[in-house]
Amino acid sequence: MRTRFAPSPTGLLHVGGLRTALYAWLLAKKSKGQFLLRIEDTDQERSIPGTIESILRCLQWADIVPDEGVTLERGMIAQKGPHGPYIQSERKELYQEHAHHLLAQGHAYRCFCSKERLESMRKAQEERHQSPMYDRHCIAIPKEEAERRTKDNEPNVLRMKIPDGPAITMDDAIRGTLRFERHTIDDQVLLKSDGFPTYHLAHVVDDHLMQIDLVLRGEEWLSSLPKHILLFQFFGWTPPEYAHVSLLLNKDRTKLSKRQHAVSVEEYIAKGYLPQALLNFLALLGWSSGTTQEIFSLQELIEEFSLDRVQKAGAIFDTEKLDWLQGQWVRKLAPEEFFAYIRPAIEQHLPEALVDPNLPKKLPLIQERITFAHEAPDMLAYFYRVPTVTAELLVNEKQGVTQENLPQLLQIATSVLQDTAPESWTEEHLLKTFRDTAKSHSLKLGQLLWPLRVALTGRAYSPGAVEVTMVLGKETSIKRICSALSPG
Ligand code: GLU
Repeated sequence: MRTRFAPSPTGLLHVGGLRTALYAWLLAKKSKGQFLLRIEDTDQERSIPGTIESILRCLQWADIVPDEGVTLERGMIAQKGPHGPYIQSERKELYQEHAHHLLAQGHAYRCFCSKERLESMRKAQEERHQSPMYDRHCIAIPKEEAERRTKDNEPNVLRMKIPDGPAITMDDAIRGTLRFERHTIDDQVLLKSDGFPTYHLAHVVDDHLMQIDLVLRGEEWLSSLPKHILLFQFFGWTPPEYAHVSLLLNKDRTKLSKRQHAVSVEEYIAKGYLPQALLNFLALLGWSSGTTQEIFSLQELIEEFSLDRVQKAGAIFDTEKLDWLQGQWVRKLAPEEFFAYIRPAIEQHLPEALVDPNLPKKLPLIQERITFAHEAPDMLAYFYRVPTVTAELLVNEKQGVTQENLPQLLQIATSVLQDTAPESWTEEHLLKTFRDTAKSHSLKLGQLLWPLRVALTGRAYSPGAVEVTMVLGKETSIKRICSALSPG
């Protein structure tokens, strides 16, 4: 199967766009086919320089690399494959030829209406609560007159002529059979007065010539589908399969908005999300495997993904779920991957950790507990810097640690450490001793471990007291407890 992703370089890659690309890529990989990338830049006014590179970089980050079409080679835009060029602005003449073919066949006509006329027509329709639609003002202009006016440089566009006939029906791989009455279909502009095609003409020509089997795109294109089907018919081509994926929604079911979420993939990268987490999340946004499995690698997705389990309804963007998946994927990183992930943050905020030969031993402690790389320096800092320990944090009524019993609890903890012989200095032994000691003093284990952990780390959230004690060693641990006992 040949699938494609066809972004317009009008802005940063949207997370919804990445989901569409992911689904198309998965289906191509599953069928051992090809995934193409085509750039749809026919709307020259809206194209923003630099966005092609940024879209490609995001896809590369996500490991969704095109087999054909536009790619990044050493940071530069490149194109590969036998059906190029794959950037629509480089295919202008091809669309013009196809549009003129439709004109010659009577499937299209020239329209000379001015912007002002179209605008007042639209307004009048709005006032009458009609959906905006071209009123076919120019359809009856004789061909010779239209050609003469064109020769005289009068600006015009080519519109498709929607023929009368029965309703158009089409199967959508996600939505089932769809039916469109012809009187609801607009005489769409195919070629603009600047000689550029519209999306409607360009993608039909390209998807045919590039031998695309499945067009997977956002549901905003659904209402245009009958025009596209008619265009395929006009050209005498078989249309590809179509699948329209639903919108992404905010929690209140409105369209995913910048005000409520980050919407560009660049922002998720900058926040430190792992590609595995974002892709896993996007895969589950609108698709279910039919099992309780929630963690999917790309390889597993290739095997499991299918369009018949993609939902029609809009998918709610649940950031908590995304962050949960992010945590899960951080835990799954191999030690060297985890180090590579947090290294930039450590370099910036805790450089002394990088010269510590024992750093690798400390990393597993924090890998279990952080969700993002930027949390790593703080999670490691107390191994390198004496923490500030406050009385507020040491006292914890819920754990049974009060202002009054705190000195005694810390003293008990100190004697446990003091009395542990070097040969018994293991995590299991220490934990057992703390447990036994708590019992013999009629204390809960937490009453000993909470203040110990806070005294050692200065933090409410960190690896466990015994784990930290093991890393810091007897001497430093006891020193820190002493200073917690007599602050200042
Ligand atoms: N260029 C269109 C967009 O960015 C692509 C739609 C399609 O995939 O056909 O929305």
